[in-house]
Amino acid sequence: MKIAFIGLGNMGGGMAANLVKAGHEVRAFDLSEAALAAAKEAGCETFDTAREACASAEAVVTMLPNGQIVKQVYWDDVIGHAPEGAVMLDCSTIDVETAREVIEVTEAHNYDMVDAPVSGGIAAANAGTLTFMVGGSEKAFERAKPILEAMGKAVIHAGDAGNGQAAKICNNMLLAIQMIGTAEAFAMAEKLGLDAQTFYDISSVSSGQCWSMTSYCPVPGVGPESPADRDYAPGFAAALMVKDLRLAIEAAEKAGAKTELGSHAKAIYEAFADEHGGLDFSGIIRTL
Ligand code: NAD
Repeated sequence: MKIAFIGLGNMGGGMAANLVKAGHEVRAFDLSEAALAAAKEAGCETFDTAREACASAEAVVTMLPNGQIVKQVYWDDVIGHAPEGAVMLDCSTIDVETAREVIEVTEAHNYDMVDAPVSGGIAAANAGTLTFMVGGSEKAFERAKPILEAMGKAVIHAGDAGNGQAAKICNNMLLAIQMIGTAEAFAMAEKLGLDAQTFYDISSVSSGQCWSMTSYCPVPGVGPESPADRDYAPGFAAALMVKDLRLAIEAAEKAGAKTELGSHAKAIYEAFADEHGGLDFSGIIRTL
């Protein structure tokens, strides 16, 4: 397929390269010259504007920093410039409301569109092992699925437009709470004289077991290799966790959902990211 890809940063660069590897003709655009050069190296055709990249594309994938930019790119350069009937996939993490608005307007112009945010960081984007949580109509999902499968290991339909973003922020709010809890338990174990490896051996097969412990342990040298073993180089940067927690709490407030721990996790990560935004989010254990 001819696929326009807009936003070739840390995540989009690897994702676009995987579409090329799957045999697609990728028409790339980014504001950054360096990102465009890397995309060219990976086999993409590069363009000077998003509009040119979208012209003649059968599908458009966007992987952009935030909702405002997503809206601007769709309004200015995608809608009316990609051929009618093309399928659009926004893989950025953005607020639920904007995702729903962009899909509504796009579909009013005779395109199909999904929101398809991802779980998995830069390594998963490069390896083609992302998880996609997808919101949109059945028809849009079926059209987007084979494109997403070339970039990920799991593609899950979460329901109507915006539900991919809803799944993403609920998941990441849970992850933030779970990581803080895991870090507190290891820090407390140490203060009580319990060796970290011994606590891991017990808790990883007991009821406190969770992903933050057994797949991404915040203690160096314990569990499978994780950012803790690389001095908390990300991984998933604390600044990005703050972005997702802000989206989560904003959505919770609008929906009237009670998220006491989510709000507390947001405050804890905001304070941490003020000084250590570039560190992996598991580095929160350093504050304990
Ligand atoms: P990034 O900043 O590395 O990449 C964003 C790219 O978009 C940049 O190359 C930038 O030049 C480009 N861009 C900005 N405005 C543009 C415009 N108007 N037109 C064209 N290009 C434009 O960010 P990233 O880490 O790749 O993240 C992208 C999205 O993925 C974000 O929404 C982020 O929240 C989400 N995400 C990131 C991770 C991660 O680990 N990095 C994990 C999951 C989800």
